[in-house]
Amino acid sequence: MSAKARVSIEWLSGCSGCELGIVDLHEKLLEVLDEIELVRIPILMDVKEYVAADVGILTGSIRTEHDRHAAREMRRLCKSILAFGTCPVYGGPHSSAYPHTTDELLDGAYRSNASTVTSEVPTDVPRLLAGNRPLDSEIEVDLYLPGCPPHPAFIFEALMSLVRGRAPGIGRHSVCFRCERKMVKTDRKTLRRAFEGEFDPEICFLSQGCLCFGSVTLDRCLAPCTKVGVPCFSCGGPSEPVILEPQKDVRSEVALRMSHLTQIPEAEIVAEIERQAKTHFAYAMASPVFRQKPTFLLKKWTQSPTPAGGTA
Ligand code: SF4
Ligand code: SF4
Ligand code: SF4
Repeated sequence: MSAKARVSIEWLSGCSGCELGIVDLHEKLLEVLDEIELVRIPILMDVKEYVAADVGILTGSIRTEHDRHAAREMRRLCKSILAFGTCPVYGGPHSSAYPHTTDELLDGAYRSNASTVTSEVPTDVPRLLAGNRPLDSEIEVDLYLPGCPPHPAFIFEALMSLVRGRAPGIGRHSVCFRCERKMVKTDRKTLRRAFEGEFDPEICFLSQGCLCFGSVTLDRCLAPCTKVGVPCFSCGGPSEPVILEPQKDVRSEVALRMSHLTQIPEAEIVAEIERQAKTHFAYAMASPVFRQKPTFLLKKWTQSPTPAGGTA
């Protein structure tokens, strides 16, 4: 029997949900463990030092000095690096701090926050960098697996492709491809949120006046949310056309599709997406994929006075 591939895991700034995603492999984990040896996995082992490995899995984003050091050490010691989850691929949900300076964040979390025990900013933790960044802003990445966390089916395939040295057999579809709701034309004239009124479980949210970002989101989740009545908020990051084509942006793509399906004017939908931009762009707004688009004006949108009924 050939030697098992050595796999080393490190977490940067994230929530540990991706480590749980690995555990969610369930019985497939046994199949994985036939081929790999986990030589470093901080969620299971009390391990501080970095070790040589065939595959390095990094979860979380580059937010602190420690993240930067850890990413460099992993790159130095691992033959291949897997960016595991939306955090290392695009920055992840804490990218929503993008419109704010570090000082504003510390002020909101500590100095001016009546609910924290102390107003002192802690000094015995790794220093925050100027902003949140994806992993490839610091080191070279061999394979990207977005998802918050990725679905076990994609985790298995990504891991096996790296261990066996072959291309991953992972689809390039959007979330809509897996969603069973039907896009139909309706006479809906007003926008509404998912918690406002009844929704037909078989009809697309867009047709019913509710924003859903499944058409501009890469499927690394098998579309669980729309099955249980929740519109897609794009935690898997942008779809391939949005990534590859500079003229395609999430805001105008969704607004155009929704205006075709309903009687709601496109400009109204665009304005609503801008009002909710911190939600709908949150997972990838730290990434150049969004920030380099000339239409991405988050700082301006969040500085505008919030229109009635909206939250920025
Ligand atoms: S990608 Fe999502 S689940 Fe994974 S660490 Fe980041 S926030 Fe947590
Ligand atoms: S836009 Fe949302 S609800 Fe409509 S088909 Fe796509 S994922 Fe389903
Ligand atoms: S929000 Fe969208 S991308 Fe995220 S798990 Fe739900 S359906 Fe998938």
